[in-house]
Amino acid sequence: MKMKIGLEVHVQLTRAGTKLFCGCDSDYRVYATNENVCPVCLGLPGALPVPSKKAVILALAAAMIFNCRIPDAIVFTRKHYFYPDLPKNYQITQYEKAGGAPVCLGGEFEYLDPDTWEWRKVRIRRLNLEEDPGRSVYPEGSIVTSRHVLVDYNRSGVPLLEIVTEPDIPSPRAARAFVEYLLLSLEYIGAVNPRLEGAFRVDANISLEGGERVEIKNIGSTYEVEKALLYEYKRQKLLLENGGQVKRETRHWDAVRRVTKPLRHKEEEEEYLYMPDPDLPPVLTRPLISEAKERLVTLPRHVFEWMTSKGVSREVAWSIVQVQHAAQLYKEALTSGTDPRLLARFIGVDYKGALKDLQKDVHDPGNWPEPAVFRKLVEYVQTGAYPLEAITGIVIPKLAVNPQVNLESILPEKASNVEEVIRIVIKENRKAVNDYLSGRRKALDYLVGQVIRKVGKKAIDPRTVRELLIKILTGERERRERNS
Ligand SMILES: [Zn+2]
Repeated sequence: MKMKIGLEVHVQLTRAGTKLFCGCDSDYRVYATNENVCPVCLGLPGALPVPSKKAVILALAAAMIFNCRIPDAIVFTRKHYFYPDLPKNYQITQYEKAGGAPVCLGGEFEYLDPDTWEWRKVRIRRLNLEEDPGRSVYPEGSIVTSRHVLVDYNRSGVPLLEIVTEPDIPSPRAARAFVEYLLLSLEYIGAVNPRLEGAFRVDANISLEGGERVEIKNIGSTYEVEKALLYEYKRQKLLLENGGQVKRETRHWDAVRRVTKPLRHKEEEEEYLYMPDPDLPPVLTRPLISEAKERLVTLPRHVFEWMTSKGVSREVAWSIVQVQHAAQLYKEALTSGTDPRLLARFIGVDYKGALKDLQKDVHDPGNWPEPAVFRKLVEYVQTGAYPLEAITGIVIPKLAVNPQVNLESILPEKASNVEEVIRIVIKENRKAVNDYLSGRRKALDYLVGQVIRKVGKKAIDPRTVRELLIKILTGERERRERNS
């Protein structure tokens, strides 16, 4: 059954430095409850908002990603509603129907569908810059079961981008890919760290042919975006197939029980009493355009396409692009003599995999070595100084444990004495040698294992050991045949 999905994504500008209209910190997570506050974000009488230049620049950069026509001025609007987490009783946002001017109206955005490796286009309806409300805490469970509500205003006033798409997304999986690529793009321009708890929230609407549109509120992860939409797709399909009707409603995604549930009535647009904010003059955008443009120099797509043009496989390039620091490292490490594919493999597969094995954060630059280290590793393999297996099997796992270690100190000793070791192993394992010579090929694996054990953790490629063993044992067989 065909479906249409549209999304509304709220992304905190966690890297804006300050809140949207005051000097409090944009990343509130390190503070004790109600410590990251001031008269402005507490909405105290007489306090006046001053827009953050950096937040506006980041919003303009986002608008440029969406190919929007940038308005000459951004005009803020008040949206009124009463809720404990909103101390002013209005949220400052933008609404063009009430005299406001959003950052962007009518744009488009292309995201990569990793199932088909195609770039898919989604129309962007609008982009707003607004403030996040505070956070309600229910000490005795949920909004339904708790007898009290506590409010933490540390988040109140954090700059938030609201991105609304047209219903152009074809499937729950595509919706997830869209959100992931959107967040990655916003991370590349230095707007957000999407891995921070609560850094983004998604509302999704979905309609099936012959049914009304249903909105799912407040989804907290990209994984849940796919799950919630899939659940809702199945629920609506079942209804329609059994002659039922899908009614227009707002539902809530219960991530624990993995179901959507009907939600209370929400205010309609006209109930919000929108009005232009008299405390805030329009923010002129022209003087900020060049600073916003500077942030667009590298988008994940550029890096991805540049890497694949160098012959790097799409899978490996995509793996590197997911980690901004890894993409940066790749660019810095690649010189004219460096094999681009080998370098990509070391960074995007072997090293990233080693960090994951150690449960280390792949996004923390401190967990990565300098670009020159990767360049050196590629050079070792290219010149034959060390076999590939020694680098991927021994050096890279050690490097991941301590990326600042002196590379020389973890390089394996060169096993020049392998032949000697093989002769010792042959002498000590006559039975296995006889087994092999009488046709039991499995005995060779055992002998290879014995050699590797004796050489210790030295730079030795099992294939080399095997070839040498076969060579020496063939000589032994010929000698025996001559003697018999
Ligand atoms: Zn404040």
